Amino acid sequence: MQDDALLRYSRHILLEEFGIDGQARVSAAHALVIGAGGLGSPVALYLAAAGVGRITLVDDDTVDLTNLQRQIAHTSARIGQPKVASAADAMLAINPTIEVEALRQRADAVALDRLVATADVVLDCSDNFATRQAVNAACVAHGKPLVAGAAIRFDGQLGVYDTRDESSPCYACVFPADAEFEETRCAVLGVFAPVVGTIGALQAHEALKLMAGMGASLMGQLLMFDGRRTCFDTMRTARDPQCQVCARRAR
Ligand SMILES: [Zn+2]
Repeated sequence: MQDDALLRYSRHILLEEFGIDGQARVSAAHALVIGAGGLGSPVALYLAAAGVGRITLVDDDTVDLTNLQRQIAHTSARIGQPKVASAADAMLAINPTIEVEALRQRADAVALDRLVATADVVLDCSDNFATRQAVNAACVAHGKPLVAGAAIRFDGQLGVYDTRDESSPCYACVFPADAEFEETRCAVLGVFAPVVGTIGALQAHEALKLMAGMGASLMGQLLMFDGRRTCFDTMRTARDPQCQVCARRAR
């Protein structure tokens, strides 16, 4: 590691459990981030600042005035620009030593199959159930760890699904694709700005641990944030032996 990298990441290197080996693993890693909105903004900024060597960001949307209350990677001057280009600008302004791949496209099944295959960790920062299911299916198919976040109104949740481990549920074990359920969108119901920051920061936290190979991941638990009372709760999650996505897959 060069002198300027040793300085840039010195506060990571000082951490006994992380150290220079952890930083080297993070610098060699490739993270795939689906969505460059409320969750994707803090995720992208923290992964860039922490020196993830290669970050692929996927989103087909453009920056809108209504995004700026919470999507902190974007600015008033970049309204109308593709979100992935705006976020890439912000990431490279913090850390020009990393590689950012900004893909302005929908995260459909074909694109995800190709993109997930080359990633070390996948962060789902999307805002709809269909994309979450497609991201999970690709992660199960390629055996890649998934860090999935969600936030609406004052509530947030976070899960790590790592099907490299025999005991880990996949996202669909916990949230079956055929479940009756009403889609809730920020555009309709609103979202308190720091809730997406809280969940997004924790997504980056779990992804960096996975890339560095340190600590225990949140696998097998769903972390829930109640922003009205400002408290966290965890719920145990288990594999569904009948799961339509992961049940028949050999691990
Ligand atoms: Zn499953």
